[in-house]
Amino acid sequence: MKIYQIQALKDNYNYILHDERSRITAVVDPSEAAPIVQKLEELDFDLDYILHTHHHRDHIGGDNGLVRKYDCEIVGPSYDSHRIPGMSKELKDGDTFLLGESAAKIFFVPGHTLGHIAYYFAKSHALFCGDVIFSLGSGFLFEGTPDQMWNSLKTLRSLPEETRIFCAHEYTLENAEFAMQFEKDNKALQDFVAQAKQKRARGEPTVPSLMKDEIACNPFLRADLPKIKELLGDRSLEDEVALGKIRHLKNVFKTEVLR
Ligand SMILES: [Zn+2]
Repeated sequence: MKIYQIQALKDNYNYILHDERSRITAVVDPSEAAPIVQKLEELDFDLDYILHTHHHRDHIGGDNGLVRKYDCEIVGPSYDSHRIPGMSKELKDGDTFLLGESAAKIFFVPGHTLGHIAYYFAKSHALFCGDVIFSLGSGFLFEGTPDQMWNSLKTLRSLPEETRIFCAHEYTLENAEFAMQFEKDNKALQDFVAQAKQKRARGEPTVPSLMKDEIACNPFLRADLPKIKELLGDRSLEDEVALGKIRHLKNVFKTEVLR
């Protein structure tokens, strides 16, 4: 399966997925139609599926324009069937979605929203996780609880460490500011951020990142480590409580930076 990364809006990433044998093509979370149409025409691909991780506007904004132009089916979480217009194929935890001969396992990963799903293409080592894991961060808890998000993060963290995480936003350097302040002595994090800065300076994306690196560097995936709980001031914290505290610290941190 070929993966094409397209920048949309200010800092969204949309992805075109193409199964070479069948020539079946999908787009993941199109923010707007124009850049997707342009890329599809350049590649001479038709569009068969629009795949959604969740219902947010910046992930479905391209649907209308694409449906008008292509005979394609809208696919997404069954939980969001009432809030993703035009959805005709519903997916839930444990389902398999077939893009031609490329198979994706579906994980139900609530927290950012209550219906969020992720698509894992094992053969391609590719995870499309929307706004659940970002490089060095994780999506806001708009609808779910720390408990739900922690379970979702643990589910995704259990995937092979060579898994490439195709998240939906270029937030890495912003997230790095919090992560570096929070876990000051993490050498792997320092090296990772130095590389991310070089990539951005060259105008390259920092996404996808590897699960291995996120496990070593991303504070949200490290909430259950004793050293992280110590930084939070209490070694006996439940894992999901630790995650909630990291979420809170990051929210406050961001507000302070924006001020
Ligand atoms: Zn979102």
